[in-house]
Amino acid sequence: MKGQTGLLWAPWRSRFIYQRRPPGCIFCGGRRSGRREASRLIIRRSRHAFALLNLYPYTNGHLMVAPVRHVKEPRLLTASEWADLWSLLLDSQRLLDRVLHPHGYNIGINLGRAAGAGIPGHLHVHLVPRWEGDTNFMPIVGRTKVISEGLQALYRKLLKAQR
Ligand SMILES: [Zn+2]
Repeated sequence: MKGQTGLLWAPWRSRFIYQRRPPGCIFCGGRRSGRREASRLIIRRSRHAFALLNLYPYTNGHLMVAPVRHVKEPRLLTASEWADLWSLLLDSQRLLDRVLHPHGYNIGINLGRAAGAGIPGHLHVHLVPRWEGDTNFMPIVGRTKVISEGLQALYRKLLKAQR
């Protein structure tokens, strides 16, 4: 779509800033208060899984879908957990279709640090919307703590689109 490449800003990705990983698992939060859900950028939940915006997105709208249970490998999920996670992923894709109108998607799992997993302890599936001509961004995961206003605005937009 014309103009959509403008959505590919990701200033925090273009800098090679690395920081120490925060202790604990970012996918295993504490209590599910509304404020906490927002601070974790969680956009929706199903019975066994949840979808959240990636703080270090490859593209605008880069989501991750993770099982609630802290497991490392797909084979450790039960069939119903896996089905639930996949169905949430498809719902999330429909949501991104509606809000961002991407031309395509990358859907994938990185297992283990050697494969590029930033958080290797907790399985998560990346859902990365793609647009024609967006291939010039850096495929390097920068680790900064920046939460851009753009990300917050998109978060609110995705929540609103579900109402
Ligand atoms: Zn976890």
